[in-house]
Amino acid sequence: MLVLADPTLLRNALYIDGAWERPPGTDELPVTNPATGAELARLPQASREDTIEAIEAAQSAFPAWAALPARERSKLLKAWHDLIVANVDDLARILTAEQGKPLPEARGEILYGAAFFEWYAEEAKRVYGETIPAPKADQRLIVLRQPIGVCAAITPWNFPMAMIPRKAAPALAAGCTMVLKPASATPLSALALAELADRAGIPGGVFNVVPGRAGIVGDELATNPIVRKLTFTGSTEVGRELMAKASGTIKKISLELGGNAPVLVFDDADVGVAVQGALASKFRNMGQTCVCANRIYAQAGIYDEFVERFAEAVAALKVGDGFDESVQQGPLIDEAAVLKTEEHLRDAVARGARIVTGGGRHSLGGTYFQPTVVAGAIGDMLVAREETFGPLAPVFRFETEEEAVRMANDTEYGLAAYFFTRDNARIWRVGEALEFGVIGINTGITSFEGAPFGGLKASGIGREGSHLGIDEFLEIKYMCVAEICPVKVSEK
Ligand code: NAP
Repeated sequence: MLVLADPTLLRNALYIDGAWERPPGTDELPVTNPATGAELARLPQASREDTIEAIEAAQSAFPAWAALPARERSKLLKAWHDLIVANVDDLARILTAEQGKPLPEARGEILYGAAFFEWYAEEAKRVYGETIPAPKADQRLIVLRQPIGVCAAITPWNFPMAMIPRKAAPALAAGCTMVLKPASATPLSALALAELADRAGIPGGVFNVVPGRAGIVGDELATNPIVRKLTFTGSTEVGRELMAKASGTIKKISLELGGNAPVLVFDDADVGVAVQGALASKFRNMGQTCVCANRIYAQAGIYDEFVERFAEAVAALKVGDGFDESVQQGPLIDEAAVLKTEEHLRDAVARGARIVTGGGRHSLGGTYFQPTVVAGAIGDMLVAREETFGPLAPVFRFETEEEAVRMANDTEYGLAAYFFTRDNARIWRVGEALEFGVIGINTGITSFEGAPFGGLKASGIGREGSHLGIDEFLEIKYMCVAEICPVKVSEK
């Protein structure tokens, strides 16, 4: 049983128009702990009608929320932030229970997510317009930035406490209202955030949560004409489908999709820094992050030393139930995730890779997997082409900078990339040549709410975070005012 200081944070209902609803007769969604298989809760699944009810609630709430002075919206977002921070321990227990990540990582994610509310509470006050010098003396040209309206958000299971704030904070700061469909594996985090929104005083209908079947709830959100903006984080495959569906009603969209992040370790790198950076990037959330190092390329001169030291660090990672504070690697989210990691490992070994550490399922059973490093990876392996999304790190060898950049860019994805070097000229050359939206140089961790996050190519459209992130939820309106009495210029 999940023990919380405040058990009322554990909600098992839909949150629509500021009220908790358990529509009768729905088939229920069981939420389980991936570490133990224990059932944590049973939730009603929103029907199409429930989803429409939430969209209409968001529509009704929109005019008053948009009209509220930015300073007032800001106060409410700050109150939401403060409540998240005050409840971080309970929220971390909910997150670890339904997602599996170790408690310290869960706390880190929650505080990172909360920071978006604080950041955008300030940005709400800076949605500035513009004036443009007019072509005629009796005209004035003005540009307004206005909230787009009802927004729909669909989020993944790997970082629920971060992905939801990354969307809700800029949307609400801009004056938009939102209907959220959280991932079916991790709806309890979303509902706990909604409970805190309610306590913070966010008015009913401004933020609604409808867990349910992707094919029903997701479909309605993507096609309903009231929804003016769809913001999605998840796989590229589903992103493509949603983009096509949203085209029917010409919605504004932003997509944060899959990645296939390369890590380049040059001969001139500090190998210790590179090992720690690759470890942090690859093994956060057991390798289940969109910005995870998927392909590690080490230059010939330091290849053997890097593989040895990296494998040593990986072998030392402690695997176990995330509720044990000393654990660094929890279980994978489900059996499908284990099967994909196994398939990538099998394929790599069949094509000549050598297992240096790890190498398969963990003796703890269930969905635990040994943190694994393979050496001798080559370009035609699955690990080079697809996102593994598990704790398997393949190390490739390269000879020249040109070859490394070419191999790094040889993917349809373009989310995150990392490289390690002590050469300043190379930092600029390689940084500018890599076709990725987020680049870590001599670090494996780049996340910060004040920086723009997002991908190129098949990794997505749009940016989250920073002052740029709020633009995704704003429309631009140009007003041309004519017949203005021009200022008289006195005659000499
Ligand atoms: P997913 O299968 O694409 O699911 C993401 C969300 O979309 C879930 O809420 C899911 O609902 C919903 N969904 C699935 N099929 C749908 C459909 N046909 N119509 C509407 N909604 C649908 O991805 P995931 O497995 O949860 O997450 C892992 C993926 O997300 C990875 O590829 C990862 O790289 C990517 N990701 C990207 C970022 C980024 O910022 N770029 C961040 C995190 C994760 P159900 O749960 O009910 O199926």
